[in-house]
Amino acid sequence: MALIVQKYGGTSVGTPERIKNVAQRVAKFKMLGHQVVVVVSAMSGETNRLVALAKEVQPNPDLREMDVLLSTGEQVTIALLSMALMELGLKARSYTGAQVKIVTDSAFSKARILDIEERNMRADLDAGHVVVVAGFQGVDEKGNITTLGRGGSDTTGVALAAALKADECQIYTDVDGVYTTDPRVVPEARRLKTVTFEEMLEMASLGSKVLQIRSVEFAGKYKVKLRVLSSFDDEGEGTLITFEEEDRMEQAIISGIAFNRDEAKITVLGVPDRPGIAYQILGPVGDANIDVDMIIQNVGADGTTDFTFTVHRNEYKKALEVLKGVQAHIGAREITGDDRIAKVSVVGVGMRSHAGIASTMFRTLAEEGINIQMISTSEIKISVVINEKYMELAVRVLHKAFGLEEA
Ligand code: ASP
Ligand code: MG
Repeated sequence: MALIVQKYGGTSVGTPERIKNVAQRVAKFKMLGHQVVVVVSAMSGETNRLVALAKEVQPNPDLREMDVLLSTGEQVTIALLSMALMELGLKARSYTGAQVKIVTDSAFSKARILDIEERNMRADLDAGHVVVVAGFQGVDEKGNITTLGRGGSDTTGVALAAALKADECQIYTDVDGVYTTDPRVVPEARRLKTVTFEEMLEMASLGSKVLQIRSVEFAGKYKVKLRVLSSFDDEGEGTLITFEEEDRMEQAIISGIAFNRDEAKITVLGVPDRPGIAYQILGPVGDANIDVDMIIQNVGADGTTDFTFTVHRNEYKKALEVLKGVQAHIGAREITGDDRIAKVSVVGVGMRSHAGIASTMFRTLAEEGINIQMISTSEIKISVVINEKYMELAVRVLHKAFGLEEA
């Protein structure tokens, strides 16, 4: 007998019919003798509908009230799923986040989980119930309802699995696992049987939006065995997210090609090459609450240098304004930018023990005549910034160059 936490996303519970299907799947695990805790999202589209509703009433909605509003989506699905389970003859009981007592801080709309009371869930499980918990929500120490940020049900699932020391946390979604890259760009993309936490973090932050990134961090920290599966097929074993490289069944050096179009780059030209200049440029950007991703500073020539960095595309204009405001103070000759860029990355823990990945990447792009504008690396990732119109081409040729379509 195992204790399994299953999380079902919005599309998996999008209609009464689908909720009944979820109940069937839960019943199968129950029949095998397992204890099951189910975490559900709101029915697909519901959270967006509630957000729109709020904005019609209060253009800039109060955050506390917003969380009261948004938490209702999940409250609907826990009740419906519990009813569906009962219809199958199972004992089931639903819990809101506050009823479990998923204690969070008071940062409305992006609260962090501090503690989970497991007593009630444990008692129900021991009494043979399926425990159905609303994802994405908690309660702060004063009793206010909080939510965990969009996509937060994944984090609820993982946090419950950690608190209950579950044998496995299964995330059911509308894709059947984590792929070598987006199959819409490369039809030959393959589902990975395993991927390490580190790789998953790199891939998630780079746009493989399978799991809320915070849930992956959480699972890594608390050593939760995490598996991503499709709720629409009965056969697949999905992708297992592992801790160690040794657990990897496949021996590929590169696990995937990630990409995104979410960034823009800004270049500060002809700044004096002296101590404090990076701080003078990035300090005001940070003060404006703008996150910076890649940073490149050139080697100084004739006493001046160029400084380039990337920000989220939504914050491009704001960052430019901030810098124009301090241009004279910095003593920069010119400030330019480009928001038609894309970032493409090859990711793989195998890079640690293999040389030549970067040169393969650069040669492959060169052969296609794709100009690299920026490069950055970490232990398990090499990223390049290129013109966004070559993004899909770059992803396709790199996927092939690293042999990712072969099983
Ligand atoms: N219902 C919430 C959202 O749409 C949380 C979730 O689905 O994970 O963001
Ligand atoms: Mg989701």
